[in-house]
Amino acid sequence: ASAPAWRAVDAFFTHALVGEDEALVAARESGARTTMPNAEVAANQGALLGLLIGIAGARRMLEFGTLAGYSTIWCARAVGAQGHVTTLELAPQNAHVALENLERAGVADRVEVRIGPAAESAQRLIEEGAEPYDLVFIDADKPGNPAYLAAALCLTGPGAVIVIDNVVRDGAVVDAASEDPRVQGVRQVVQDIAEHPELEATALQTVGVKGWDGLLIARRR
Ligand code: SAM
Repeated sequence: ASAPAWRAVDAFFTHALVGEDEALVAARESGARTTMPNAEVAANQGALLGLLIGIAGARRMLEFGTLAGYSTIWCARAVGAQGHVTTLELAPQNAHVALENLERAGVADRVEVRIGPAAESAQRLIEEGAEPYDLVFIDADKPGNPAYLAAALCLTGPGAVIVIDNVVRDGAVVDAASEDPRVQGVRQVVQDIAEHPELEATALQTVGVKGWDGLLIARRR
């Protein structure tokens, strides 16, 4: 099957099962005003995050990489009115677009956007003694994945779920000699998870509107 067929299948399932309200459509379209247009998760991936939050009964969610807040809206809705989302974003321009989108979606009151390098923001959360998070979504710069996993392990407890996006990269993940630091960031975090005694995990390849990529899902025992 070809890329157009993948897109048609995504459109079928998104139309049938997922849907996007005006706030999500506006958030997706506002990606054009960010530093990384079209880098948000697909609608069916946003819905998967929401489902995982519901299945895990997660109330506190931490996100690395906000962009325009598209995935943040899915997560903030899923944690519910009593829940909380902390999302970490490097670029002030993106954070400001995200804040507008979170406001429009009616979830700004349960989301905190922290601006700056995610490793530093996460370190500050650790120093502040942040209450443990139930689900962590790692979707910022890929070379940072190992540092973000290490921070996530300081900020979660048993039962926590950790989701990492873009782990397949058109198949490049299998190239041990890759000189792409994003590929090496993925390979290192996979190894770190594999070697961590408290983590069980799997990864799934995906095709669709975002091309050929994949998600890693880990759970802390
Ligand atoms: N999670 C978003 C969504 O699905 O709607 C997409 C996030 S996009 C793939 C990656 C984001 O990470 C960009 O907004 C980028 O500015 C941000 N980013 C890149 N390097 C970062 C860093 N060192 N710290 C925090 N955020 C970073």
